[in-house]
Amino acid sequence: MNEMILKFPACSENEVFARNAVAAFALPAEPTLSELSDVKTAVSEAVTNSIVHGYRDRTGWVTVFCRLDGASLYIEISDEGRGIPDISKALEPFFTTLPSEERSGMGFTIMQTFMSEFEVESKENEGTKVKMSKRFSAGQARNAG
Ligand code: ATP
Ligand code: MG
Repeated sequence: MNEMILKFPACSENEVFARNAVAAFALPAEPTLSELSDVKTAVSEAVTNSIVHGYRDRTGWVTVFCRLDGASLYIEISDEGRGIPDISKALEPFFTTLPSEERSGMGFTIMQTFMSEFEVESKENEGTKVKMSKRFSAGQARNAG
């Protein structure tokens, strides 16, 4: 079992940093390239949401917590931004509150599709936390076969 916490200001260069840091953290579980790419995409979508929606025109901290337990990676990505007034609406494919900025409203759908488990907690004016996990097709077993 291993754990880590990353905390960084909400800006796009840190989106790149976060997805690569999480991928590096997951490497001991020997994920396939496709599994690793799924995780990177999901992290990227969640961190981007904190930057563009959570904090919008201001800055603030984004926190990424990860736990690697055998072939399971658990990730929490949180911000202390605006929060989401209606979570079930926000989870609908193509729902976006920023259509003018070429947002497609697919971020949450992508996270749900690419990860094994996915959940959102949010409170207006307090912030948002995305919890997700990915079970890797155990590298040890693959290597033995
Ligand atoms: P895309 O991800 O395709 O660029 P999007 O970000 O609008 O578009 P989702 O990622 O699915 O789509 O998010 C849906 C909506 O949920 C957003 O438009 C926004 O209103 C809200 N939302 C998502 N994450 C946050 C967050 N961290 N803080 C506040 N609101 C959020
Ligand atoms: Mg998004």
